[in-house]
Amino acid sequence: MTMKEFDKETLLIDKIVALFNNEDNFIITSHYNIDGDGLGSEIAIYLLLKKLGKTVEIVNQDKAPEIYNFLPYINDIKNSPSKSLAEPNVSIVLDCGTLERAGEIASFVKKTSTIINIDHHFLNTCFGTINFVDAGYSSTGEMVLKVLERYDQLSKEQAICLYTSIITDTGSFIYNVGKNTLNAVQKLLDTGISPAEISGKIYMQKPLKYIELLTLSLQTLDYNLKEKIAWMYVDKKMYEATKTTAENTEGFVEMLLALKEFKTVFLLKEDKNIKVSLRSKDGYDVETVARKFGGGGHKQAAGCELENLSISESIKKIVAEIKKNNERNNSGK
Ligand code: 5GP
Ligand code: MN
Repeated sequence: MTMKEFDKETLLIDKIVALFNNEDNFIITSHYNIDGDGLGSEIAIYLLLKKLGKTVEIVNQDKAPEIYNFLPYINDIKNSPSKSLAEPNVSIVLDCGTLERAGEIASFVKKTSTIINIDHHFLNTCFGTINFVDAGYSSTGEMVLKVLERYDQLSKEQAICLYTSIITDTGSFIYNVGKNTLNAVQKLLDTGISPAEISGKIYMQKPLKYIELLTLSLQTLDYNLKEKIAWMYVDKKMYEATKTTAENTEGFVEMLLALKEFKTVFLLKEDKNIKVSLRSKDGYDVETVARKFGGGGHKQAAGCELENLSISESIKKIVAEIKKNNERNNSGK
């Protein structure tokens, strides 16, 4: 970070802190298909604003995946603002590259006079009144820590939330790890949280049906060795047969990325549309691929949704786009 960037960040955080201190009514939101980073960031700010005596609600389009039920105050999250908060002054939008990512909550956000946008996506439309946007951070949670550090001691509950943000968005420190991420983690550990306990809750509480779904999905594994691309899918029949949902696909795509033969991998999930999760390594880029289909994300972890296409048609399109993208980027490097 250069001196100039440092000053810019300090000024942005000054403005956010001034709003936190001076305004009264807040809504906090994040993206649809809410994840660990979104939830952790939301609850950490929620706890601060409550402590400051503010009226505040977290409002998300989608219900949190069950694995996050251990997060403090997770049951306070609503799917629309309550009447008493019909006209909040400030919206805090977390982990969203565009306001559309907030899904149905975007309409409430648009009604507020001030929007605070905190995000670490490479492409962010800066839709906020204040835009604290920096792709150098591992997670939005790491950025939220920067803001919370302006206040008194971070609570253990807040640290649990932000640690969850960081580990889920870095795949437990495999990708997206920024220059200062581990310094941030140290600050969280200083509150006395247990990393093993948090990871255990997120990653080691899977139901047996998880493996049953994985077994079915693995039978669809296919690849292109020359292009170093691998993929597999989960369809509605598999969910029905194993009584699972998309929540139970957590970690599937990362398994493909563990194979040395492949640099770009993806998982397709059949829903109303086809949801695609892309991952890459060794300098290969999937964000550009996802963006071609109206999605986005990060260089090594991105996603998109394809409408009106079958699974096999979707695979063809994605493989062709990865190939094109790799050629354009001189073998992706
Ligand atoms: P996942 O594959 O875990 O659903 O998503 C990986 C990353 O890609 C997320 O952290 C998010 O940044 C991004 N992402 C996933 N789906 C979408 C999408 O439909 N649109 C956009 N803009 N980004 C997405
Ligand atoms: Mn994130």
